[in-house]
Amino acid sequence: MTATGALEHAGPVPNDVPIPPDEILVAGEWRRGAGPESATVDPGDGAVITTIHQASVADVDEAVARGAVAAAGPWRDLLPHERARYLHRIADGIDAHAERLARLQTRDTGKTLRETSALVASAAGTFRYVAAALETFDEELTTQRGPSLTMSVHDPIGVVGAITPWNSPIASDAQKIAPAIAAGNAVLLKPAEWTPLVSLALGRIIGESGLPAGLVSVLPGQGSVVGDAIVRHSGVGKVSFTGGTTTGRVIAHAAADKLMPVSLELGGKSPTIVFDDADFEAAVAGIAYGIYSSSGQSCIAGSRLFLPEARAEEFLDLLVATVRRLRVGHGLDPRTQVAPLVHHRHRDSVAGHVERARADGGEVLAGGEVPTGPGYDAGAYYLPTVIAGLDNSSATCQEEIFGPVLSVLTYADEDDLIARANDSVYGLACGLWTRDYRTAWRVARRIEAGTVWINTYKQFSSSTPFGGMKESGLGREKGRRGIAEYMRQKSLYWGLDAAPHPWAG
Ligand code: NAD
Repeated sequence: MTATGALEHAGPVPNDVPIPPDEILVAGEWRRGAGPESATVDPGDGAVITTIHQASVADVDEAVARGAVAAAGPWRDLLPHERARYLHRIADGIDAHAERLARLQTRDTGKTLRETSALVASAAGTFRYVAAALETFDEELTTQRGPSLTMSVHDPIGVVGAITPWNSPIASDAQKIAPAIAAGNAVLLKPAEWTPLVSLALGRIIGESGLPAGLVSVLPGQGSVVGDAIVRHSGVGKVSFTGGTTTGRVIAHAAADKLMPVSLELGGKSPTIVFDDADFEAAVAGIAYGIYSSSGQSCIAGSRLFLPEARAEEFLDLLVATVRRLRVGHGLDPRTQVAPLVHHRHRDSVAGHVERARADGGEVLAGGEVPTGPGYDAGAYYLPTVIAGLDNSSATCQEEIFGPVLSVLTYADEDDLIARANDSVYGLACGLWTRDYRTAWRVARRIEAGTVWINTYKQFSSSTPFGGMKESGLGREKGRRGIAEYMRQKSLYWGLDAAPHPWAG
């Protein structure tokens, strides 16, 4: 085993997190879902946390019908600053329950408590930012070009669907619910099958904010049943989806049939590039964080590392030593840096990718195996892994693994580097490590990615747009335009001409 140092502290950790009851939120009413029962598992120890009855298609129909009534009611006509008050209350509610929410999410997703605490804080921050942006969201008086005063204004859509993945539930839920209700809509949230608990807990907090009943539903269930019913429902006017590119494409096809707008936040295979003038120590830390935090289960994980040929060996020595020191353990253990993967099935899929990399000639420089021993055997753990010796065209460098697996490539020439960094169906993120701002500017502008981090990685700001290029998605979340994505633009012409219309009389 290459990473024995990482395994020293494994052991039992307290698991005393209050679990939500077996109820889902259907348009203001908490009740048992009419769909099948499913178990949700703590990937840290394999224990069943609880079972939840999922939503049924009939639950979706009811949530749409009652959501439409709630959206058409007084909510639609509240002034922006009045709606903003509810968003602030939700943010306060999240803060008040922050520790419980973070612990619940750690149990459900496996993530470290440090990460889930940050996600909970980010969810509260999203509601506050959207509230502030809503209060200052100006409609536009467009330049007059004739005898009318012209305006561009925005209407709500009505009922919108929000479909989220399992990797960062509360943050991705907030990123959709906050702008959707701010814009005047009702929302149906469909969390991922493996991780419904924190979304249901968020539903309770939203309910306590005094928001009109029916405006928000939380409908856990199978994507192909509950998610599909939301997407295809004639009463749903927009879907915002975060998840895999294959699912995104299915949703885009269904949306095309209805001519419905969709926002798609999809997968990634992001390059991180080290230049020979970089601060190697900072780059090693940033790159390790960029791929191994969240155990690599992050759409923006920097999973392809490009090193300058002349200094690759020197950099790799530092990197591999750092990776071998990373502490692998249960998410509730405060010493843990790399927590388990979300589910044993997903861990096995990651292990399968590494076996294929080996079969294709990849050299495993660190990790590359499932840790064993007390504290690990029952969980969905996988060691942080570094693989060298594969070409950028290999499956390992082209397919999203969504696990703690970093592929290392080298380059000698900037044009070739950019061509290979861009040689991916994805275009979500990129990291650049250099001391030369001219290099950073030149390369950042040529990289096909929605976000480029320079001498940092995985930093987020709710005021800065986020989204993908190419098969990483359509549309943008966050920022002021994140709210406009949930609105329908409308133009108003106010006639100013005192003279009668030419057809009059
Ligand atoms: P997934 O695509 O399997 O599922 C995402 C959600 O879609 C789940 O709630 C699922 O139940 C639902 N779903 C599945 N099939 C559906 C269908 N036919 N109709 C409607 N809904 C359906 O993704 P996942 O495995 O949960 O999450 C991992 C993926 O998410 C990765 O590819 C990752 O890159 C991506 N992701 C992207 C971002 C981003 O912002 N770009 C953020 C996080 C995760």
